[in-house]
Amino acid sequence: MASSEQRVVCVGLICFDMITVCDGFPLEDTDTPCREQHWARGGNASNNCTVLRQLGVPCELVGTLAADDAAKFLRDDLSTCGIPHDRCVEDPAGATPTAFIIINALNGSRTILHESTRASEVTAAQFADVDLRGCAWVHFEGRSRNVAEMREMVARIRRDDAADSVVVSVELEKPRREMEQLLPLGDFVFVSKEFAVFSGYESMRAAVEGLREKVRGGATVICPWGEEGACASTSDGTVFTAAAEPPEKVVDTIGAGDTFIAACIAQLYKGASVEAAIQAGCRVAGAKCGQMGLKDLK
Ligand code: ADP
Repeated sequence: MASSEQRVVCVGLICFDMITVCDGFPLEDTDTPCREQHWARGGNASNNCTVLRQLGVPCELVGTLAADDAAKFLRDDLSTCGIPHDRCVEDPAGATPTAFIIINALNGSRTILHESTRASEVTAAQFADVDLRGCAWVHFEGRSRNVAEMREMVARIRRDDAADSVVVSVELEKPRREMEQLLPLGDFVFVSKEFAVFSGYESMRAAVEGLREKVRGGATVICPWGEEGACASTSDGTVFTAAAEPPEKVVDTIGAGDTFIAACIAQLYKGASVEAAIQAGCRVAGAKCGQMGLKDLK
């Protein structure tokens, strides 16, 4: 169990989201009024921190921040939310990754159009400067174009005497073949339904049982599966299942997976069992689906 001042460091993307909430899904080449439009801070690692902070886990975000107006919005929001981001890498020549997201408020679906071609990723050399003293856990959002660097970042954690007891988790979300190289890296490996289906698994149970063979010794594989809930397999082959906890009405599913992961990490950080962690993940992610945005989760 981590002592209270030890932090969870999340490494990955910080994205500028432009959100449009519609009553239904718009038709192409029409002029449609919508319910509301707003900006939000997104990106998986950034969302993980938003939820961890609300669940009382000290955390820190390590990503890249450009020098444009969108990055100013992101920095301000991180400060407002009390998420330390001093060790984010400055990328003055880059552009903030952006996403245009349509939420259908009638069923909570989210349709995402994203662009990050001029955004840079955190490199192993930059991560080498992050002091891991006082760090209990490092979570990596798997990024397909940064796989080699991530492998080196994890290798550094495993080599570092000051990081002896640091727990490493990785998330494999996007369906890209190169992401498989991240499987052996984590003590906890979170695999999205999208990645599991891409890898040929037809259920969450099949995914955790199949992927268990590909992770490092002692590691746990966890797979959330939308309305079905989530499954986990520990290294001894025990499989745990947690049912989804649907809200009365699904209004917004953006960040449900990020919420699930953060709630699992929060429980494991506090010393809970894998089974309790995925149950909490489903509870908090279910509550998230019933509300707009990621604020006020508990
Ligand atoms: P992603 O946001 O990455 O697509 P998932 O759809 O797998 O993630 O959802 C992650 C978790 O969120 C699920 O394990 C479940 O607990 C919860 N969840 C997602 N959709 C729903 C839903 N419609 N009703 C209840 N819980 C949901």
